Formats: sequence, structure tokens, C-alpha cells
Amino acid sequence: MSDASRAVKLPSLDPAAGRIMRLGIMGGTFDPIHYGHLAVAEQAREALRLDLVLFMPAGSPAFKQDARVSDAEDRYAMTVLATAANPAFYASRFEIDRPGVTYTVDTLRALRAHYPASVELFFITGADAILDLLTWHDAADMARLATFIAATRPGYDIVQAQRRVEASGVGFDVRYIEIPALAISSTNIRDRVRGGKSVRYLTSESVIGYIQKNGLYRPGPDAFGTDALEEGEQHGR
Ligand code: NAP
Repeated sequence: MSDASRAVKLPSLDPAAGRIMRLGIMGGTFDPIHYGHLAVAEQAREALRLDLVLFMPAGSPAFKQDARVSDAEDRYAMTVLATAANPAFYASRFEIDRPGVTYTVDTLRALRAHYPASVELFFITGADAILDLLTWHDAADMARLATFIAATRPGYDIVQAQRRVEASGVGFDVRYIEIPALAISSTNIRDRVRGGKSVRYLTSESVIGYIQKNGLYRPGPDAFGTDALEEGEQHGR
């Protein structure tokens, strides 16, 4: 590993002579990561012949500044556990180690500067997030830096989504892939844990063990700090 890649904690990706390398960046909050995410990354890897997929938990998600999101270290740890068995998957601290609000354009710019021009960037995320692409920070620059892969659940209105992205006038290159396993959602997993229900087979055993061991998504003074917040409000803080 070069000094540069050690400093920014990115895997080395040294293209063989003349070969274009394709790097997938799997962006999400991953609170928690689940089998839907893993299926998306694997199918995107196969369909677009990606050499590597970087799973990049957002440090402080841009559109969730008012929402309670679990600690970045917990989301990263679960991402490491869930991706460990796939040699093409790499869990990255890149966004969680960057202070401030996480803007995808900053990530793409840094990756573009880090890797040689022979490495192409593909940003993969949920189609619902992609729908709002135009409102993301520096949208035009993002369109220049990467191809976007929008993962949809069955029944998703792709034509409507395509029209909306096209109407933006920004030349985004968006590819849509339908993933039945995306019927699984992080929100549903959190709700089930909170309700004391089983989440077995929705995510890996290792992630379930981590959630249990660390008391994530439980009511009370948990990762969401519910009690602490209410107490703070009572004291006018
Ligand atoms: P979100 O609103 O929580 O997710 C929207 C939908 O997409 C949900 O149904 C979600 O399901 C799904 N989803 C999220 N990540 C996915 C993935 N990698 N693969 C498949 N489905 C996925 O979106 P978010 O997690 O906050 O943001 C997604 C990515 O877009 C992050 O990398 C974030 O940094 C980036 N983003 C950037 C900006 C900006 O730069 N201004 C703004 C918004 C988002 P689950 O809940 O089950 O994951």
C-alpha cells in the first residue's frame, strides 16, 4: 500500500497496462447495513463489471441533519462485518473520518484526485436518493465525475424517475437496476429491533450480533439518545 492510500485509507487499485478499472462506491447511511445493500452491490458489480466496491457509510448525512442516526463507528463496524467475506467489497472509513456534513461531491473529487484517470467511478445508491440528485451539493460537478447507479425495488416507477432526472438539464448518466432483495429496509430492521421482533435473515448474523451486543435501536438511552434528549429538553438545554 502506498503512503498516499494509507493516509486517505483507500485500497490501492493499480490498473494493469492500458486497462480501464471500474470502481464502485456504495453510498448510504447503512443504519444498519442489510442483505438488500449487499445484493445491490453484488449485482451492480456483475452488471457493470466493477473491479471493487467501496462501501462508504456517510459520516454526517447531508439530508439527515435533523434526524437521529446511529454513531458512525457503529455503522462502520457493521459494514465491515457484513462485507468481510467478499474479496471485491471493501468497507471504507473515508466519509466517516471527514469532519462536517458529508457531501458526495467531496468524496468523488477526492477519489478522482487519488486514483489515475484510467479508474472510472460509479456511485451506487437507492433510486429514492438519486431522485433528488439535482438538489445535492454541486450537482453539475457530480455529473462530470461519476456514473450513477440507482437501485430500485420491484414496482418502482423508473420512467417517472428518468423524466425527473432528465428534466434537470444536468447531464447525469444514471443506470437503473431492479433488486428484489431491496424489499428489506434499514427503517424496517430498526423498527423490528425496537419492537423486539426477529431480524434474522434480513441481515448477516454478525450484524445482528453487533446490534444485540451494543443495544442498538432499543428504546431508552440507546444509540438514538432518546432519553437524554427528552431530559435535555426538560432542562431547557
Ligand atoms: P436515504 O434517504 O436514507 O435512502 C433513500 C432510499 O435509498 C432508502 O429506501 C434506502 O434504503 C435506500 N438506500 C440508501 N442507500 C442505499 C444503497 N447504497 N443501496 C441501495 N439502497 C440504498 O439515503 P441516504 O442513505 O441518506 O443517502 C444515500 C447516499 O446518497 C449517501 O451516500 C449520501 O451521502 C448520499 N447523499 C448525498 C447528498 C449530498 O451530497 N448533498 C444528499 C443526499 C444523499 P435503506 O434505508 O434500507 O438503506
